[in-house]
Amino acid sequence: MKCLYNIFQMYVKEEVMKEENLCPCGSGKTYELCCEPCHQNHNAPTAEALMRSRYSAFVFGLVDYLFETTHPSHRAKNLKADIASTCKGLAWTGLEVMEKWQGREGDKVGKVAFRASFVQEGKNGLHVEHSRFKRFGKAWMYVDGEVKG
Ligand SMILES: [Zn+2]
Repeated sequence: MKCLYNIFQMYVKEEVMKEENLCPCGSGKTYELCCEPCHQNHNAPTAEALMRSRYSAFVFGLVDYLFETTHPSHRAKNLKADIASTCKGLAWTGLEVMEKWQGREGDKVGKVAFRASFVQEGKNGLHVEHSRFKRFGKAWMYVDGEVKG
């Protein structure tokens, strides 16, 4: 009996650990198997993967990653400062990918529609955007987005 109990305890512990390591992008996968490889290798295989990894990067405040995964033709002068202030001012609380067009491994362009919820100065907000992505060499990059209210 004692043995079984220990196994049960281990199982519970593992489940809790898994929950703690869930990727902030809401994929249901652990961070290790989801956005972390993108953050380390800058090689998101699809536009959606890049979109999710950029959302997680906002959660973690990975300013350089957000800057470097913006298409070079769309890196505005103040981009880094803007990203940094968004990371500081908002607490992102959830992501939902609603629709995607192309953006797969063999595509050159892609679009992803998403909803991201956040808290700013104690108030809940919702950011709805249709983002455009372009392949740049082997990697996907963010071009720009149309904010939908
Ligand atoms: Zn993720």
